[in-house]
Amino acid sequence: MDYNKYIEIVDDWPKEGISFKDITPLMSDGDAFRAAVDDIVEFAKEKEVDVIVGPEARGFIIGCPVSYALGRGFVPVRKKGKLPREVIQVNYGLEYGENVLAIHKDAIKSGQRVLITDDLLATGGTIEATIKLVEELGGVVAGCAFLIELSYLNGIDKLEGYEVLSLITY
Ligand code: IMP
Repeated sequence: MDYNKYIEIVDDWPKEGISFKDITPLMSDGDAFRAAVDDIVEFAKEKEVDVIVGPEARGFIIGCPVSYALGRGFVPVRKKGKLPREVIQVNYGLEYGENVLAIHKDAIKSGQRVLITDDLLATGGTIEATIKLVEELGGVVAGCAFLIELSYLNGIDKLEGYEVLSLITY
């Protein structure tokens, strides 16, 4: 499916100079959203993943339906202070801002094959931080799947050696 027409581009949001890609029109179209999730499910099947990991918040939107379709678990990666039990955490830089991401220490078992999902790959800071968390827990990153890749921000350079699926590239 050609997903491009379901993405709205909002210039100078959330601040000047940022060309924001809004995925909500894709999500609100049942056929397009299902097709996008199905594409990622196929990728996950090929990579024989045991568990899905998604960073807050849009990584949940993509990862949870994939998890449901596969009958595999979903593990949330959240901003600092949001998870109630023992966590490991990592600092990361965003396209706009900086943050700390955390994962429950017992969320992944050593050797588990992990699919990481997010809506969008920009500079790659978020995915790099998420990979660090997964690998620190002994998980094997079997693939990373995005709806959108902003190729002009070169986030893909941080994913050398990893299997990557991007449904739309700008
Ligand atoms: P990165 O860490 O620079 O790769 O930025 C990716 C993260 O920022 C993802 O979790 C996205 O949800 C968010 N993000 C950055 N730019 C956009 C955008 O244009 N649309 C939607 N999300 C974005």
